[in-house]
Amino acid sequence: MRYILLVLGVIISIHYILSFTHEEYGKATSISSIAEQLTGPKPNPPYKTPVPDEYYKPDAPLDLQGRKANASFVMLVRNSDLSGIMGSMKQIEDRFNRKFQYPYVFLNDEPFTQNFKDHILALTNTTVEFGVIPSDHWHQPSWVDEDRATKSRDEMVRNNVIYGGSVPYRNMCRFNSGFFYRHELLQKYRYYWRVEPDIKIFCDVDYDPFLVMQDQNKVYGFTISLYEYQATIPTLWNVVKSFINANPDFVAPGNAMEFLSDDGGESYNLCHFWSNFEIADLDFWRGEAYSKFFEYLDEQGGFYYERWGDAPVHSIGAALFAKKEQVHFFNDIGYRHEPFQHCPQGDVHAKGKCWCDPGQNFGKYLLVNVGPPLKLISSDYEWYSCLNRYDRMFS
Ligand code: GDP
Ligand code: MN
Repeated sequence: MRYILLVLGVIISIHYILSFTHEEYGKATSISSIAEQLTGPKPNPPYKTPVPDEYYKPDAPLDLQGRKANASFVMLVRNSDLSGIMGSMKQIEDRFNRKFQYPYVFLNDEPFTQNFKDHILALTNTTVEFGVIPSDHWHQPSWVDEDRATKSRDEMVRNNVIYGGSVPYRNMCRFNSGFFYRHELLQKYRYYWRVEPDIKIFCDVDYDPFLVMQDQNKVYGFTISLYEYQATIPTLWNVVKSFINANPDFVAPGNAMEFLSDDGGESYNLCHFWSNFEIADLDFWRGEAYSKFFEYLDEQGGFYYERWGDAPVHSIGAALFAKKEQVHFFNDIGYRHEPFQHCPQGDVHAKGKCWCDPGQNFGKYLLVNVGPPLKLISSDYEWYSCLNRYDRMFS
């Protein structure tokens, strides 16, 4: 009796192991499929019969001879950003990457869940890598005086400064300013395109912007420029000035200081490139000038004692340590990140088959706590945009 039980036990175990490891075996021996064999298949509603393969038109084969840049998308996101980043990625794939097949790097301060990875992998045929950020690249350094940091956060909350009370937001800004380009998954790449959750890409991008960067020796590309909140960077410009006084050789001849300052560098006019969209050169950030610059800023603690954003930090670095021609306005990339957008005009709009309203070309909404009174903004040259300053550098 004991032997019979043992043999039965072994047979049942093997059955279960096979059911889990061999899909076909599992299907063939499941109770429902055995029942189906006895009674015949249940009738299905017609839509459950898939459209036959011959109706499908596959993507055009990749032009393997075509030149490609050494580049990747970079998305810094939380697991909770899944639906927002899927929306962004779907648009990137449809409008651009279906044709160009650049890889993606996803970064997070904690591990991505399997559910997150599965949903992302389902959106593309290209390579996707998922990385975790080293703890010391993300968290507030121990030498930052926490009492001072807390006081300043509380003060910003009282003054309704956006994200004024948030430590994770500050970690994010510091990481984007000085660490993302050092992540091991990005070491092999030269160029990147930063993509955030919930953005819109309005136009087809039928050319390779990475190759434009490479061939034209550009280091930084943007679509939207605007003013920063003074309250988030009270001492930033003084720190910048002391850095360039101590390191005048890092400042490039023919730089874009005019974009940043209306008085030859004495004061900051708050203009910056909106860094939620960036197509840029990782080696530029890794270079000596910007690396030393970031280190210097970081030592002042302003990422925590104030709320320095990666947008002004990148913008100031790109504007001062590169030639102005190396900072590129991607006029043909129609783009929205709430609450502002850039919608290409005229022929450019037609060429990209853009779906934004060209009459709505900057932002409909206004931010609180900025100087002039409430007013509808509708063009790249409205008062809240800095594009006129960019253009003026080349006139
Ligand atoms: P905003 O655009 O300035 O309003 O800031 P977001 O909330 O969009 O954050 C900027 C980017 O950093 C987005 O891609 C976010 O998904 C990402 N991000 C912000 N905070 C965190 C965080 O705590 N962890 C991770 N992993 N990503 C974050
Ligand atoms: Mn955002």
